[in-house]
Amino acid sequence: ERRLAIQSWRGPGRTKDGTAIEILANVQDGAGARIAAGYPAQGVGLFRTELCFLSAQSEPSVTEQASIYGEVLAAFPGQKVVFRTLDAGSDKPVPFVSHPDEENPALGVRGIRLGNVEPGIIERQLDALALAAEQQGIAGAKVMAPMVATLDEARNFATACRARKLSPGIMVEVPSVALLADAFMAEVDFFSIGTNDLTQYTMAADRMAPSLAALTDPWQPAVLALISLSAAAGIRSQKPVGVCGEAAADPLLACILIGLGVSSLSMAPAALAGVGIQLGEVTLSQCQEAAEAVLRTTTTEQARATAREMLSPTI
Ligand code: PEP
Ligand code: MG
Repeated sequence: ERRLAIQSWRGPGRTKDGTAIEILANVQDGAGARIAAGYPAQGVGLFRTELCFLSAQSEPSVTEQASIYGEVLAAFPGQKVVFRTLDAGSDKPVPFVSHPDEENPALGVRGIRLGNVEPGIIERQLDALALAAEQQGIAGAKVMAPMVATLDEARNFATACRARKLSPGIMVEVPSVALLADAFMAEVDFFSIGTNDLTQYTMAADRMAPSLAALTDPWQPAVLALISLSAAAGIRSQKPVGVCGEAAADPLLACILIGLGVSSLSMAPAALAGVGIQLGEVTLSQCQEAAEAVLRTTTTEQARATAREMLSPTI
């Protein structure tokens, strides 16, 4: 019966009392976007552009890049598509990027820091996004930078985007951003919380290490506290805050994220219906009450149990 419900759920995302929640897909290229469009996705919340280039030996030209990015826009006509600039480095080396030899690649030159070793690489990518958007007649295409840690990075990125008529956002993956969320939000149009890295950097635990799974758990109360700070800054500034890490695909945690003030959830297409169905079974105020209670817990076990207790009459 559950499988049938999942197959037939078509969206859009909303809570039981009708609060709209955007349910978006994570994609990695045009082919993936066309597949995602067959699922009940209201758009793309995270286009991981670096995954298009894992075997590219030289940097594709601006026109070549634009045609790849255009395919993703074309798969979701008139819908939201959020690009992410290259998050090469660490677990995702890209052949045409000269990654320095590093002792701690996860703490090294990755994400927006690439601009330091490959001058112009992010700007050329933004040129390509602007070209693709123009070709498709899209105004204000959304693009966000990964691994932002300082206000200067956010400000410079936003300036580069606005110069190309792109709408800038940043990922919240480094605790420094969540801790100074209002100041960061003042620089950009939106946040997208990358819970995989935010958890890794909050708990100082390698997300690739299976033996550290108890630490790399987005139910860690400290991680939830940072998500809460980020979402609250979005509410104060009336700018959207989404979640695009694995946490968004956990139906129970999705309810808590919504309760914390997150307005969109982006995930692997196969997870969309399960999350959408669960959101439809709880009200916004139930999510908010559960989120408040979860914020008072001090362990992952308590956090999960509290959420389950407060939402399970309905879930
Ligand atoms: C994240 O860190 O949560 C995220 C969505 O980015 P990635 O998994 O690509 O690092
Ligand atoms: Mg990340």
